Amino acid sequence: MASGQKPLPSRRVFASLLTAGAGMVALTACTPENAVPSPVAANAASGVATPPAAASSVPTTDPVTVTPGTAAPAPSAMPSSAAPSSAVAPQHSLTDPTSPWVVVNKHRPLNPQDFVPADLVQPNVRLAVSGEASLLNSTTAAAAEKMFAAAATEGVVMTLASGYRSYSTQVATYGGYVTSTGQAAADRASARPGHSEHQTGWSFDIGDGGGACSFQPCFAEQPAAVWAKANAHRFGFVVRYPWMFHDTTGYFYESWHLRYIGVEAATDMANRGIATLEEYFGLEAAPDYL
Ligand SMILES: [Zn+2]
Repeated sequence: MASGQKPLPSRRVFASLLTAGAGMVALTACTPENAVPSPVAANAASGVATPPAAASSVPTTDPVTVTPGTAAPAPSAMPSSAAPSSAVAPQHSLTDPTSPWVVVNKHRPLNPQDFVPADLVQPNVRLAVSGEASLLNSTTAAAAEKMFAAAATEGVVMTLASGYRSYSTQVATYGGYVTSTGQAAADRASARPGHSEHQTGWSFDIGDGGGACSFQPCFAEQPAAVWAKANAHRFGFVVRYPWMFHDTTGYFYESWHLRYIGVEAATDMANRGIATLEEYFGLEAAPDYL
């Protein structure tokens, strides 16, 4: 297991944010060791916040349970209650980490918690990292290659900034935060081991070829992020932690964090304006650990 005592460059930045006052919270699901947590200001109580670039949306918190085989409501059917009508009947497991539809959040750890994808490969894309963080599962890698190539044809240079992250790496990263800031602050800065989507191999963080604003709110305005937000669904990806849905996903906006769910589902979400996997699959919101 890697050492958990490695200094985290972002620690001081994060600590300063913690003392910046009520309403200012930094959350990130990613927190690679060289990243700065995303200091997005938001007032969770009122839902009022200043978006860095994107349009704001109202967080959704209504949970609906969908069991496999349950018929999906017709898209045009309006619910008579507060329950969303958006949930689909799962075609793939929502719990198996080898499934493209696995949902990992603060309520849904990986099972097993130390899961390792069997098909990790390094995609043939521009890499901003080395080692395990340059790996993705084979399906995600193939889709990433197509997406990066398509972006390049439109003059947008995208880099792979952080991909797979092992359980042991997450233990070290999270443990470093706990040691330095305590558990409450660590939970705002880093996913607990076994709760990071990066461990599934289905997700990764992008950087911009220009190198600006990596893992920072201003990344949303960089060409790679702008392009990804508009086009990632065509390659099977969603921006997993969209703006203003932290009450659902447990994380503030991460314009760099993409998740593969398949072209059909990602396009369906885009067409229907559904922002989160939790809502799409009818799962309860996961703003914090249970
Ligand atoms: Zn990430």
